[in-house]
Amino acid sequence: MHADIIIRHGTVVDGSGASRRQADIAITGDRIEAVGKLDAATAAREIDATGKVVSPGFIDVHVHSETALADPTDRLRYGSVFQGVTTHLTAPDGFGWGPLDPAGGRQLWESMNFAYGLDEPSFTWSTPAEYLATFSGNTPVNIVPQVPHCAVRYKAMGWAARPAADDELAKMKTFAREWLEAGAVALCLGLDYQPSAFADTRELVELSRLAADHGAIYAAHIRYNELGRVAAWRETMEIGERAGIPVHISHENITPGTDALIQEAEARCDLSFESYLYPAGCTHLALMLPIWAQAGGPAGIRERLADPVDRAHIRDHLAARLSPAAGKDRPVFVDTQSGRFIGESIHDAATGARMEVADFAMLILEEEHPYALMVYHRGTSADEQEQSMLATIRHPAMMVASDGIYHGISAHPRGFGTFARVLRLCVRELGAVTLEEAIRKMSGYPAERFGISDRGLLKEGYGADVVVFDPQGIADRATWEEPRLEPEGIDCVLVNGIAVVEGGQPTGVLPGRVLC
Ligand SMILES: [Zn+2]
Repeated sequence: MHADIIIRHGTVVDGSGASRRQADIAITGDRIEAVGKLDAATAAREIDATGKVVSPGFIDVHVHSETALADPTDRLRYGSVFQGVTTHLTAPDGFGWGPLDPAGGRQLWESMNFAYGLDEPSFTWSTPAEYLATFSGNTPVNIVPQVPHCAVRYKAMGWAARPAADDELAKMKTFAREWLEAGAVALCLGLDYQPSAFADTRELVELSRLAADHGAIYAAHIRYNELGRVAAWRETMEIGERAGIPVHISHENITPGTDALIQEAEARCDLSFESYLYPAGCTHLALMLPIWAQAGGPAGIRERLADPVDRAHIRDHLAARLSPAAGKDRPVFVDTQSGRFIGESIHDAATGARMEVADFAMLILEEEHPYALMVYHRGTSADEQEQSMLATIRHPAMMVASDGIYHGISAHPRGFGTFARVLRLCVRELGAVTLEEAIRKMSGYPAERFGISDRGLLKEGYGADVVVFDPQGIADRATWEEPRLEPEGIDCVLVNGIAVVEGGQPTGVLPGRVLC
């Protein structure tokens, strides 16, 4: 055999959960040609992986990267790749802007740009396939589409803050079908965000039936704010049951008392969930508003804040949510349109402005239009946070996903550290799961769950997405103070048989393509 690349003498952890073994990997073109003892084989290039682990490229099923992947700044474009991630799913939280006409696209974009930065996309596409085609040869990673429910609903009925009428639901099905026919592997929802927050269960069941007919699953940021966590989980179970669709819950953690809930979910439907395992969330400040005040997106928020009666109700709501009681989350600014307050908690910033925190929050929503990205540090103790992390990573239905956000002045370290952090902290330092199980949760399991064929395993005939890393040296470096530091200990990342990172540095080659 004469291959293009042979990775020799490495410890292969193949993504299936099977025990590690010593093996060589031969790659020809964009495929894995052989895995085993390949002493007789030759190759145009040999990579010595002595003392290193060779694993499948990681698959991130929840990542806000669609604009960062085209960014000329390496730190944004490669923020995820530096960790060994080789495949991204689109439309996390149902966010998306294709295919909307430029006017509609801009409106919706303004409500979700907190996760993508202030540079608008071009809105030059008119079909999902055209949108997806913009990625091929233009990104270091592979792309797998999901149906962006926010865009589908917006295209059918704008910001309408009510359940869909029959004709609107029919339109949504037409738009969702276009995505499914373009290869979408999941119907993706962000049920705390506009305009999806006003979808009723019927709409979700109907769209899920369509998705299930195409072999797709239901992936959701569930309706925490309006229903509360338990009822939001139960709504997801109901959708799974009624539509006969596997369900996947975004960015969840196991906390004391959730065992019974997960058992109930597993009895009622086919369940998986994902976690990034940091003790803090990240979203925009507008999500603190009551759901009725968020209707209509940024323009709607501005209108409500300008109305004295609405403003008084909003103030009461914010005062309750932001009261500095024990155990409550502590919101810290990580990006604002003006660049003010970065690294400050909203409470400290309000004190500095000599204002009540609720008044200050409303002022920021007005002045920042309402682009203000926050990290919400959980109010639980360090011990509770570690117990939750251990229970979460050990759960068989859990996979690792970053929910990464790359643009902005600062960010949450999850975008630059999640995968390396799991390998350092959960595997090496805490021994919470084996290396084999952690790798499975980053590769084989997401591929199997989301139906991404020929990825996620190191196996003959599979796509040659491969990571070589030092199991003793791999570590995240991104912190709350410096969230944009790439990890260390990752030597080489191959996508479709081509090196995108070597010696920890980007090669500048962009071999990513759409997998569907
Ligand atoms: Zn989310």
